[in-house]
Amino acid sequence: MSTLLITGGTVVSSTGRTAADVLVDDELIVAVLAPGSTLLGSDLTASVDRVVDATGKYVIPGGIDAHTHMQLPFGGTEASDTFETGTIAAAWGGTTSIIDFAVQTTGQRIETGLAAWHEKAAGNCAVDYGFHQIVGGVDEHSLKAMETLVDEGITSYKLFMAYPGVFYSDDAQILKAMQKAAELGLLTMMHAENGPAIDVLAEQLYNSGKTTPYFHGIARAWQMEEEATHRAIMLADLTESPLYVVHVSAKQAVAQLAAARDRGKNVFGETCPQYLYLSLEEQLGAQGDKTWGDFEGAKWVCSTPLRSREDGHQDAMWQGLRTNDLQMVSTDHCPFCMKDQKELGKGDFRAIPNGIGSIEHRLDLMYQGVVTGEITLERWVELTSTTPARMFGLYGTKGVIAPGADADIVVYDPHGHTSIGMGEGRTHHMNMDHSAWEGYEIDGHVDVVVSRGSVLVENGEFHGRAGHGQYLRRGLSQYLV
Ligand SMILES: [Zn+2]
Ligand SMILES: [Zn+2]
Repeated sequence: MSTLLITGGTVVSSTGRTAADVLVDDELIVAVLAPGSTLLGSDLTASVDRVVDATGKYVIPGGIDAHTHMQLPFGGTEASDTFETGTIAAAWGGTTSIIDFAVQTTGQRIETGLAAWHEKAAGNCAVDYGFHQIVGGVDEHSLKAMETLVDEGITSYKLFMAYPGVFYSDDAQILKAMQKAAELGLLTMMHAENGPAIDVLAEQLYNSGKTTPYFHGIARAWQMEEEATHRAIMLADLTESPLYVVHVSAKQAVAQLAAARDRGKNVFGETCPQYLYLSLEEQLGAQGDKTWGDFEGAKWVCSTPLRSREDGHQDAMWQGLRTNDLQMVSTDHCPFCMKDQKELGKGDFRAIPNGIGSIEHRLDLMYQGVVTGEITLERWVELTSTTPARMFGLYGTKGVIAPGADADIVVYDPHGHTSIGMGEGRTHHMNMDHSAWEGYEIDGHVDVVVSRGSVLVENGEFHGRAGHGQYLRRGLSQYLV
């Protein structure tokens, strides 16, 4: 048992900010004190084991990244971050909990997939971790297996309207799964893109010689995202199943979510930093890299794809975050190196592994939205920690600085600076051979990171360890209307 006092800072929650000292005993927050309070003694700093000076800084609940894919097998290779390297990078960036996706592929049993993910993660994580369950093959077995998920602490599952033959569910399968989910209280997460139509478009582009990464974005047209989002909402409505649409990138999809929410539906949407900052023209169409030429865009091949800035998708995502038509920002962290991984798709964009690595930079990139006036300081905390906790049944333990909560705390310096990238003096701890965020300069800095009372990052040094992170048994969503 040891005690820790974070003193002099401004505690920021989703609803306000206040000058307060935070007292931690062992793994829990035990008191949030007015500055100068003598209730627990005239000089509390002298009676605790450790003091963190947060003068001039923000004290916020640890980040929760609810969408990550460590070691995900994809397209003949595997996401390059292990649970160890990925969660260490998360800690560096102020994220103290992740929710990863256990995978059932078509033809496999859910129990087998889930056991495999426990095996990969157990004893290897530097921060706490939970799972969603990917249901990649809806059949009698998997519908039955869904009944055991809540007891396993898995209260959300993901379906795919894309990737035929791998994860894809047709409408009949989606309907059956949603009926089951409604009965069990599970939250349905949806990858909403019309995969069969996209695959035809992609083949036609390839056959006409359009093979570079840019055409990944053309094949995955916004109409395919809007249509699938609408279809998912209608199926969810019919089955009275709450719906959470992952990685929203098209402004038309946000409009679909907004319309459903205006009708009072339990319909939610997540976007990711890449859809707020990066674009089809600038990144997928990149030509400038000496090593990779027009294949450089492969660094930013992800699904849903980066979309046209000219068409205003990025602005629409920020707007959706302000109006709460989008509730959360996760990363969809799914890193692949260029060498031996992304380059599998040289000459055929369809074979480029889909994914971007961002787990380390989510808090910084979203804080930049505070600096530029896109969102408020409180909304920053809400989008990155409090709502993820409520959405996925962790609130109270996570997502808030209050007595009784886990001591997952970040001291964030608004006067600090972070240079993202691979070079000298830059920040990048993910297991990748490039950064999708090279050259991004952040007005702000993650100074101290505490996970269940243990200081993981301080003074630019990592003090954590693989195995510190514990499995999170999640409750039912606390966000439903
Ligand atoms: Zn997806
Ligand atoms: Zn994903």
